[in-house]
Amino acid sequence: MTSRIHNFSAGPAVLPVEVLEEARDNLLALGDTGVGIMEHSHRGKAFLGVYEETEALCRELAGIPDNYHVLFLQGGASTQFFTVPMNFLSEDQTADYLVTGSWAKKAVAEARRFGTINVVGSSEHRNFCYIPREPEFTTEAVYTHYTSNNTIFGTQYAAPPQTADGTLVCDMSSDIFSRPIEVSKHAIIYAGAQKNLGPSGVTLVVIRDDWVQRGSEDLPTMLQYRTHAKHQSMFNTPPTFGIYIMNLVFKWIKAQGGLAALEQSNRAKAQTLYDYLDQSRLFSGTADPDSRSMMNVTFVTGDDDLNAEFLKGAEAAGLSGLKGHRSVGGMRASLYNAFPPAGVDALIDYMRRFEEDHK
Ligand SMILES: *Cc1c(COP(=O)(O)O)cnc(C)c1O
Repeated sequence: MTSRIHNFSAGPAVLPVEVLEEARDNLLALGDTGVGIMEHSHRGKAFLGVYEETEALCRELAGIPDNYHVLFLQGGASTQFFTVPMNFLSEDQTADYLVTGSWAKKAVAEARRFGTINVVGSSEHRNFCYIPREPEFTTEAVYTHYTSNNTIFGTQYAAPPQTADGTLVCDMSSDIFSRPIEVSKHAIIYAGAQKNLGPSGVTLVVIRDDWVQRGSEDLPTMLQYRTHAKHQSMFNTPPTFGIYIMNLVFKWIKAQGGLAALEQSNRAKAQTLYDYLDQSRLFSGTADPDSRSMMNVTFVTGDDDLNAEFLKGAEAAGLSGLKGHRSVGGMRASLYNAFPPAGVDALIDYMRRFEEDHK
């Protein structure tokens, strides 16, 4: 096998080796069909089998109730930033948004094109290093939007925010399926696949049926959720390869014991790294301890030159993708579902050596 290094990339990100191996085998011919997975018609029996199984696994793993639709769309989470308000928010209406990072800000900017947005909680004044504790939700908001995990700033909601009527819309791109999900607290959950679910190019949307029904009918067909709900994401050609990889990832998650088991292993991986950071004299985490993410661990040395030297040495040591986002600087270790505990140990070994050399 080609040798693989430890990939800490924030997204697209590491996938399970078992998934990649199986996909490789099916690229040339899916099962005994004699046709590769990418070459099958989306309306043919072989792909429909994959599709139905993928949806069923998704529902089973996350416990998605029957009154929710599971959609496999395109355009990434960024397309959901505007599709949600375009469907559900009119000029005379308001929505509440929690602003916990760059992605949340982008969602707000798009939503403002359609209605009035109340920022009901923000951690921007401290460069998004924490999750706001007591948002001031309004009563007239059509929905409340939040970002469950802030990929760039390394913070994460421990639980969904508690609003009066519980009409939540969540951008779950970077922690979806990393722990059990309280689906019924949400009207809509969306996530680009490329962090925890598969390759880029497919976006998972879980949406409650009453919301599908109430969406605007005055939009291009492709931008209405009802179109995709009615046609099981096959109004046009869906991202077939991405759905197939998601299918394999879901099977892998099931083999790991499901979302509760993944949460345990994700928590253990992140805790190991946070424990190291907390006792380190050189490195420190950038997120407040009570807001820390299990998925993206952000840290710095406090010296830009030293950060640069650390990153250079990391690449040489086979630890890839550790450079923090430019808006935070420093380092970011993304520890998604498929990232192995051995990679965390390798990182800590390297950090320890680096610290020894820079006393
Ligand atoms: C990566 C990411 C996005 C952007 O997703 P695209 O699929 O590239 O549009 C949005 N929100 C969060 C929280 C992310 O991590």
